[in-house]
Amino acid sequence: MFRLGKLFLCTLFFACISGSPENQDKLYIEMLDVGQGLSFLIKGKNCSSLYDTGTPSSGIDTMLRNRGIKTLCSIVLSHRHNDHTGGMTTLVKMAKNGEIRINRVLLEKDANEEPLIMLLNEAGIEMQEIYRNDTLADFLPWTARILFPAQNSSLTENAASVAMRLSDSQNSFLFMGDLEAPQEKSILELEPLLSATALQAGHHGSGTSSSWNFLAQVQPKMAFISAGKNNSYGHPHPETLAKLRLILQDSTQIFRTDRDGSVELEWVYGVGMWR
Ligand SMILES: [Zn+2]
Repeated sequence: MFRLGKLFLCTLFFACISGSPENQDKLYIEMLDVGQGLSFLIKGKNCSSLYDTGTPSSGIDTMLRNRGIKTLCSIVLSHRHNDHTGGMTTLVKMAKNGEIRINRVLLEKDANEEPLIMLLNEAGIEMQEIYRNDTLADFLPWTARILFPAQNSSLTENAASVAMRLSDSQNSFLFMGDLEAPQEKSILELEPLLSATALQAGHHGSGTSSSWNFLAQVQPKMAFISAGKNNSYGHPHPETLAKLRLILQDSTQIFRTDRDGSVELEWVYGVGMWR
């Protein structure tokens, strides 16, 4: 009887095929509430990483302390703007006083300049430029691939943002930094079949990002928007929200730091992702 019962359960829960979800690899992606800025904490079994660091006053130090993060395998900086790289000064300070270990900082060409270089050099933190088609081994067995910008790119500021796609065989998370409509078009030219289960809406949900064509191709099921409460830029733009509500199968899957605070996603390898 017991055996039959177990068999029956296994037909109900397809995860039985490859072990229960408790034994599967898990990744936690948290959009940190850094106000009007951007920072994601990506926590794997062996490694934690940041995609952007918020502003200098975002309190990234407190957030990492509260979450017990002692090592960052990598910090990916999307582009040079202070609302994305501003937390680096605080993080380097933590590294210098031994509170945290930072293995390397990955950035695009436009952000690779003083005073950031000096800051990292002083603390002895390795730095590396990243380009389209580079992959990061930090999240294995997940694939982390850089989609944008190209190595020979002359783009600057928002337009130079690093787009990174994390994926397993079933699902994917697409980080867009502050990329806007013209770069979304460029990415689709390079990746005509691009899709993403979860999308970080570019440039804090601004009206100049998340173009129809891009959303229609990517077909996200969840959207993540980082914006400060009552920010002066009007992020996220009502039109962007309207587009996301139409594209997403379930409009409750739009997550915003200005309304929801920090938002964490749990991702079980090969099984699925949940808020
Ligand atoms: Zn920004």
